[in-house]
Amino acid sequence: MLQVTNPATGQAICDIKVTEASELPKYFERARFAQRDWAKLPLKKRIRILYLLRESMLNHIDELAHLISQENGKPVFEALANEILPSIHSLTYYCRLAPSVLRNEKIPSSMIFYRPGYLNFWPMGVIGIISPWNYPLLLPFCEIIMALLAGNAVIFKPSEVTPLIALKLEELALASGLPTGLLQVIIGDGSLGSALIQNKPDKLYFTGSVPTGIKIAQACAQYLIPVNLELGGKDPFIVLADADLDFATSAAVWGAFSNSGQVCASTERILVHESLVVPFKKLLMEKAKTLRQGDPALGNVDLGVTTFNPQKDVYRRHLAQAVSGNAEILGGKFNESQTALEPTLVCGSNIETLDVYNEESFGPIAALTTFRSVDELVQKANSSRYALTASIISRNSSLAEEIAKRLEFGTVLINETTYTAGIPEAPWGGPKETGLGRSHMSQGLRDFTHMRYIQKPISRIFVYKSLWWFPYTPFQYATFKHFLGLYRRSWLDKLKAIPNILWNFVQMIKDEPRL
Ligand code: NAD
Repeated sequence: MLQVTNPATGQAICDIKVTEASELPKYFERARFAQRDWAKLPLKKRIRILYLLRESMLNHIDELAHLISQENGKPVFEALANEILPSIHSLTYYCRLAPSVLRNEKIPSSMIFYRPGYLNFWPMGVIGIISPWNYPLLLPFCEIIMALLAGNAVIFKPSEVTPLIALKLEELALASGLPTGLLQVIIGDGSLGSALIQNKPDKLYFTGSVPTGIKIAQACAQYLIPVNLELGGKDPFIVLADADLDFATSAAVWGAFSNSGQVCASTERILVHESLVVPFKKLLMEKAKTLRQGDPALGNVDLGVTTFNPQKDVYRRHLAQAVSGNAEILGGKFNESQTALEPTLVCGSNIETLDVYNEESFGPIAALTTFRSVDELVQKANSSRYALTASIISRNSSLAEEIAKRLEFGTVLINETTYTAGIPEAPWGGPKETGLGRSHMSQGLRDFTHMRYIQKPISRIFVYKSLWWFPYTPFQYATFKHFLGLYRRSWLDKLKAIPNILWNFVQMIKDEPRL
């Protein structure tokens, strides 16, 4: 059994049954059986069933929000606004998008010799989804919806830290008419995730840390299982010299401390123009101090608690190194029950050498540095192993856009921060150690399909043999050689090629019968 605990109180919520690795073949059998019929359903019918799931979730909003808050430790409002709302919106968006994205796509022929064709998309089969604990509903939900819409079955392993919302989702899906076996939740830790891969899903979608992502990529490589990896971030928040300080600090406080900083796209590095650094720090900390932090069950709080106990060791390690490196630490204390770290800003002349500036803290800690010029800020922002999102705060949107195009990140937000994982039309992911592949938007939906190219004959009545078939002959060679003349830059040279092509082509047809 797995004991699920409330991170705000340390008390057990309940015990749930762990899935044995030896049971997985049965899960796959059920999934494959359900998927065959599901894939045959017209898309409209699949969409209708998913809309029933949406309705059912809407009927259980408070229950879902409280469950997320209870097992994850985030404020109920965050569960509602940052998990349930974007999940419901994403379901709606993908259901509307799917008919245009999953239908056949015409491919016109690019050359006279070739024939027109079209792309046809078909489901991959059984998709494995492994997810983390920080957004236990939103992150897997978008992928589950896309995978199901595309005609697949899903075996979903939530984090062992936050499994209850996953089980609730499975229950609501079944009650909404999703066929048995189509969406199955398995409960367990990393070893079960690893066993899931050994059972060879047709695709694996992983969200989590870089070290686990690397293990997963290696495991998937054994069987050439296509894999998406959504990994870490150390996202820069850039404040240009012309920024409105009130706006910039409000944005930074939310970017760095919402969800207690347990966000892959959290504001973990703040880069401020040196002319603003003193008032920026002062105002940011003044605002941070007004945030109400604590057990979400006890009333209105802005910040909940740290979800996963071992993450606190990372905070302690980063802060201890900052102390020994003589950094300035504003905040930095745990509450009495040690369940939460207060909003913390770390600054100092050697900040850029410290782990708190370079490694993911995944908590309510931001490290601040300064810059003088645009070149310096671009160089500093891009100097990271991670590349998920970046934010620029400025009154000059053209300058901000110019800078945005020099930032090597999957997403750059101007005068906003952190929130685009909840926007289904925006791509999600980034280069470097942030992962492999991009999710969301139309491409994300298609990524849960295989693509086949179907080429059609030019004529329904006549068939003819292609010119490049056997036998290989002198006039055939000459026809193709002169044909290449059509690629020359000058129109005169192109025109000169035409009589040669025609003459050799006629000889070829006349004297060199095709095999
Ligand atoms: P984690 O890597 O420890 O675990 C993630 C999931 O992987 C869990 O379900 C876990 O049980 C499973 N797992 C662990 N070892 C495994 C193995 N060997 N084989 C298969 N599965 C295994 O991550 P976490 O601590 O749950 O989450 C925090 C991390 O997630 C942070 O690094 C954060 O940046 C990242 N994250 C990324 C995104 C994104 O979209 N890029 C979103 C949220 C979180």
